[in-house]
Amino acid sequence: MTAKKKILLTGAAGYIGAHTAVELIEQGFETVLIDNFSNSDRSLLQGIEQIVKQKINFREGDCRDAAFLDSVFSKTKFDSVIHFAAFKSVKESVLHPLKYYENNIESLTALLRAMHRHQVNEIIFSSSCTVYGQPDSIPVDEKAPLKKAESPYGATKQMCEQILEDTVKAHPSLKVVSLRYFNPIGAHPSAHIGEMPTDVPDNLVPYVTQTAAGLRPKLVVFGDDYPTPDGSCLRDFIHVVDLAQAHVRAVEKINDLPHRIEYINLGTGEGVSVLQLIKKFIDVTGVPLNYEIGPRRPGDVVKTYADAHKALALLNWKTKRSLDEALQDAWRWQQKI
Ligand code: NAD
Repeated sequence: MTAKKKILLTGAAGYIGAHTAVELIEQGFETVLIDNFSNSDRSLLQGIEQIVKQKINFREGDCRDAAFLDSVFSKTKFDSVIHFAAFKSVKESVLHPLKYYENNIESLTALLRAMHRHQVNEIIFSSSCTVYGQPDSIPVDEKAPLKKAESPYGATKQMCEQILEDTVKAHPSLKVVSLRYFNPIGAHPSAHIGEMPTDVPDNLVPYVTQTAAGLRPKLVVFGDDYPTPDGSCLRDFIHVVDLAQAHVRAVEKINDLPHRIEYINLGTGEGVSVLQLIKKFIDVTGVPLNYEIGPRRPGDVVKTYADAHKALALLNWKTKRSLDEALQDAWRWQQKI
């Protein structure tokens, strides 16, 4: 049996990083987790340990700090890096664009420099369907043109992809997989880890579960007069454990991919409307939810869902978990925190 790769995960105390750490550790990969807790809580690390039933290898520090990265890279000869660390709130990025440009861009450039210094040549990057902006047609495949970003956050993801593209050209040994996530939701079925917004949630499902738990008075649906079947926006909601497992596949397959930089959508391939999700939540949990229809929110993408064929072809990955499971898992997690 060939030895499993050694993987560095940045932003590993966050929502998607923590779920990916669990999947990698359970598959026997040697992992080192780093985070500066700028948008996460230490308790998620204990949650990871409870699930994998072993101590994790965690280092606290900032991805922009070259000395910190050198100390991490000189202790372990990594095969691959999975780079989750970034700020992710669309709303906050409009109010504080420089905070987003500084953190999201500098984290990546500092990391690529450290990888170069320590001869680590594989990176999986957390990108987003936000790079497509308002798509011309759905489902969206990876060849769809990238439209002008709707927010500074979206712009950072486009810029990071450009930085990766340019760096691949300049460094012939570098290999990149940029995973374009659609809308991750849900939590680990154990309810030991899940999404833990440090502020008012920007994403729909934590808002739904916090409202259902009585932590917020009501949920506002932004518009029900869009050209969609029920008038609300259409999204591709993907269970976070499915998403995490795609990272394991990316790490395993990165050397077999046709191009040194690959962009791959991660979604279910199905559109679900905001109102459908809300009704489904009430249905599967039996919990009432106080919601009302409000005006449209400027900048919202009206409808988007993934063409997920490339992920199946290149990573042999597709989603397995249903919307029902995702909502039940999210609710179980909400009741615990
Ligand atoms: P998250 O905020 O829960 O996790 C990100 C983690 O990175 C946090 O723990 C934060 O403390 C850490 N971090 C931020 N800047 C750092 C730095 N400079 N140094 C060290 N640690 C730092 O977010 P998430 O939902 O887990 O998202 C992970 C990645 O996926 C992000 O890059 C995000 O943009 C991307 N993404 C998320 C979604 C989503 O809906 N959650 C969708 C598409 C893409």
